Amino acid sequence: MSLMTIEQVDKFYPQKTGSPVQILHNISFTINEGEVLGVVGESGSGKSTLGKILTKIEPYQHGSIHFKGQSIDTLSKKELKNFRRQVQMIFQDPDSSLNPRMKVHDIILEGVRGFGIQVGDKDAFVRERLNEVGLSSQFKDRYPSELSGGQKQRVGIARALAVEPEFLVADEPISALDVSVQAQVLNLIRKLQREKELTYLFIGHDLNVVRYISDRIIVMYNGSILEIAESEELFSNPGHPYTKRLMNSSPVQHPKDRCISEVSEDRPDYGAVKSYQQISDSHLVAVH
Ligand code: ADP
Ligand code: MG
Repeated sequence: MSLMTIEQVDKFYPQKTGSPVQILHNISFTINEGEVLGVVGESGSGKSTLGKILTKIEPYQHGSIHFKGQSIDTLSKKELKNFRRQVQMIFQDPDSSLNPRMKVHDIILEGVRGFGIQVGDKDAFVRERLNEVGLSSQFKDRYPSELSGGQKQRVGIARALAVEPEFLVADEPISALDVSVQAQVLNLIRKLQREKELTYLFIGHDLNVVRYISDRIIVMYNGSILEIAESEELFSNPGHPYTKRLMNSSPVQHPKDRCISEVSEDRPDYGAVKSYQQISDSHLVAVH
């Protein structure tokens, strides 16, 4: 069953001068209940913007988004509160997403308090949430500055899960972590998804990481979807030349790390997406 339906969504950001710039072009896809839908693309392709739109952090301009059959634009106050509880985000940078002046105990209870959720014994609740993400209960009295990157991200995950969401947008949740702990945190995210039957939109720039966790994958480039397919199908039968490039160059470098001549050479212009070719039931490839 589909949990979220995104239809023909465009997103423009206003500019200081001049007309607004279009960041997302005609985005359409569905997210099925209980699946991990990966979004892969290089830096600047619009992945985070998409995540922010689905979580209602950012508005969009055209098209429609439905969550459980209901438009996310016409929610009553009560429905909006419920939406904000059910749809949580795990951020790339745990440093800027945790309040440095709050202890872990209060960070984990932030959402619970905000939504007025009854949890009974608060200490026991925090202990359970910490254990769930692989941290001992001693961490409850620490401030974010006393945690490593991986520990901070675990606290961010615990905070998101504390309100019992159904749908999580994880925006490059391991990209800012030391390579040595990336796999552990990725495995934790995957384990929690399975245990709690959560639905994820998992955003990443490394196709191998996205493949590892995702049931289906969306390939984005310049604010457009170029291909959608089940993960194994995408790898065995990639339909778009950009997908093939990603496979050969994974992990994708940040454009800043490249020299200028490389960037222009490395950023092919496929032109606007005119339509999609349906290769199989669940496999779409952009036609330019
Ligand atoms: P990604 O997550 O794939 O790296 P983003 O969604 O962050 O891509 O950004 C896509 C494009 O939108 C980039 O060109 C970026 O500069 C632009 N952008 C992102 N946020 C804003 C904003 N608040 N205002 C204007 N432009 C933005
Ligand atoms: Mg991003």
